[in-house]
Amino acid sequence: MPVSRAVALVSCALSLSACDVVQRIASRVAEAREEPAAPAVDESKVASAAIPAAAVASTPAPAAAAVPGPTPDVELPAPTQPASAGTFEWVYSPAKKDALKRYEPLFQHGRLASVVEVMKMLELPRTVPVVPLECGTPNAFYASKKHGVVICYELADLFYHRFLEAGADDQSAANSTLNALTFVMLHEMGHAAIGELELGVTGGEEDSVDDLAAVLLVDSGHAEWAFDGARSMTLLSKGTRAAYFDEHSMGEQRFYNITCIVFGSDPMKYLALVERGLLPNQRAARCPKEYEQKDKAWQGLLAAHMRKK
Ligand SMILES: [Zn+2]
Repeated sequence: MPVSRAVALVSCALSLSACDVVQRIASRVAEAREEPAAPAVDESKVASAAIPAAAVASTPAPAAAAVPGPTPDVELPAPTQPASAGTFEWVYSPAKKDALKRYEPLFQHGRLASVVEVMKMLELPRTVPVVPLECGTPNAFYASKKHGVVICYELADLFYHRFLEAGADDQSAANSTLNALTFVMLHEMGHAAIGELELGVTGGEEDSVDDLAAVLLVDSGHAEWAFDGARSMTLLSKGTRAAYFDEHSMGEQRFYNITCIVFGSDPMKYLALVERGLLPNQRAARCPKEYEQKDKAWQGLLAAHMRKK
């Protein structure tokens, strides 16, 4: 950890006003560091015993679209806390389809729930549920009119197959899927924070919430979660045509932007990203400054909305 970060954490503990809010959130996310590995995707959860135990890879991989389709109109479960609590709240919802039940252990693992718990440090105008749901399409989104965040089971299915296709074994594909889901969930909670708190952002909101997810994960010592989030962006765009009109940057651009934040947070620690050719020198040179700017920008945006108690 850079000395400046350690100083920020100490001053954070001593004085709320002197606190780096991104660091405050990140230091709480860091508490999940000693968590167990992601559960293997469990074929026993699939009712059809006809599917061989180790044959997930042979099931057809879901197709990825060049751009996400329209936001599915799903029914959100009501939060258990009153709206006046003004927090994010993890509301678990099981899958219905047999083919998607194998992903339930990833959502029950505890990681996603604990990250949502940390994000309760933000004071929102109302309670916003964060829910895993079947959507009929691989997606994740902030439903602004329904004031909720949805992570679709189908997205876990798509990530898992893409990581397998990229050469991962079952266990590492499950780990990477959970990491990528964590990144995407923070990305969507970033949209929710912007929407609920009516925050102003310049530049593309999509890039901005990628930045938030990346700085929170990097600052909390979970750079590998951010990096799997970055990888998932390129894996999703594989085989699709570039859609320049879309509000999201190209998958490959998102990969480099996120990887740049990881590298820029501690160039010596993450030098291998450059040495292995994952981040070109021309971009790497700019990354420490980019990381500082993005970290600072989100600190400014969230500072007024941190819960006081
Ligand atoms: Zn988004």
